Amino acid sequence: MSSAEQHTQKKLVKTLKTSSKLKKIMAWYFIKGKIYSKLPWKKVAWSVSGFPTEFLWTYDVYPFLPENCATIAAARHKSQELIEYAEACGYSRDLCSYMKTNIGAYDKKLPAQFGGLEKPDIMVCTNTICDTHVKWFQIQSRKLNVPLFQWDIPAYVSGSDEKVMNRYIDYVQDQFWEFTDFMYDHTGKKFNQKKFIKTINKADELAVLWHELFEYRKKIPAPLGYADTLGDVFPMFALVGERSGRGVNFYQELVNEVKEAAKVGKGVVDEEKYRLLFEGIPFWYKIKFFHQLANFGAVVTYEPYTYSFGARRKIIDNDIEKSLREMAKTLIHTPYFYNLETRMEYFKKTIEEYKIDGVILHNNLSCRPSTTGMADLKNYIQEELGKPVLLLTCDMNDPRAFSEAPMQTRLESFIELLEAQK
Ligand code: SF4
Repeated sequence: MSSAEQHTQKKLVKTLKTSSKLKKIMAWYFIKGKIYSKLPWKKVAWSVSGFPTEFLWTYDVYPFLPENCATIAAARHKSQELIEYAEACGYSRDLCSYMKTNIGAYDKKLPAQFGGLEKPDIMVCTNTICDTHVKWFQIQSRKLNVPLFQWDIPAYVSGSDEKVMNRYIDYVQDQFWEFTDFMYDHTGKKFNQKKFIKTINKADELAVLWHELFEYRKKIPAPLGYADTLGDVFPMFALVGERSGRGVNFYQELVNEVKEAAKVGKGVVDEEKYRLLFEGIPFWYKIKFFHQLANFGAVVTYEPYTYSFGARRKIIDNDIEKSLREMAKTLIHTPYFYNLETRMEYFKKTIEEYKIDGVILHNNLSCRPSTTGMADLKNYIQEELGKPVLLLTCDMNDPRAFSEAPMQTRLESFIELLEAQK
């Protein structure tokens, strides 16, 4: 057995007891969604990450998230055949593998546990994270003959100032009212201010708890790692503002468990040696990569990807317009799509706060937004912050881009660098 193979066999990053309850919540969410999609008086939407899911819950419109379903397909080792199906339909290899997974899963009518999802009544989308969302939803809305709302969010590029931000906020805020018109036209539901305030407040409860979890991750040893958060982020994605409170209860329980572990100094890795930051989307078909870091005494204690889903949107002074302006800001400027100069400052601050020893950058072949600027970021972290960086060129959903043995070799070299630096 090679040393790489030996390392893949032994220890695993421990996960929390509470995290195991997520399966039940997800099963409830998918079953309820399926029922909603069959009831003529209920409405179901497809939405994208970056779109404020709480705005759909305000209308009691059930959100289905094709990206989330795509990750399930990958975790169940189904994504490759779906991607290959989409490529056979003419979509190129370098296009987003989430999009291709969704195209394959919908055409093949797969059940939810393999990444399939029901036909929606409406689709809502935004380009705040990437332009792929726009084309992807345009294609699917035409094919399925479903009305589509596109929320156009300008990019806050390097060099933009407050004047630019204010102009952008006006533009984004105006579109909120276009969204309410769209909802009325296609679901027959009117905007209800009271419900809106209630839903946003509920959503914020969830975000506050999510942020609290991250505070505990600053502790040494880390009581929570990426092996948990990559799944635990689900409520932040789908249940933001959902009324039953399942997401809030789940996060409250997680916080309690993490708090207790931090109090007694219990980490998810037995002898924590290296604290890592992982930038990018994980490889959903190879989640064990994050568990096996324990073989080296390493744990991912921060990842901008899951943190970004915790954007707090608040009701300010019970004033809708004022609140919408603040919410618009979170759509224009959050960690997931910071421009390079803001991203560098953000990394500097995070590396200090979370006492990070090294950084893994996922140079994701089919996701331009998460990889643009990665080479500059790598140089900055190595040269200016003096931290070792491992740049992995893979794909979040396409296992063809992942090669086990070279990955392990590179990981081992990275760990040696970390060791040398200690
Ligand atoms: S290209 Fe990247 S950001 Fe855009 S949908 Fe695909 S994975 Fe998401």
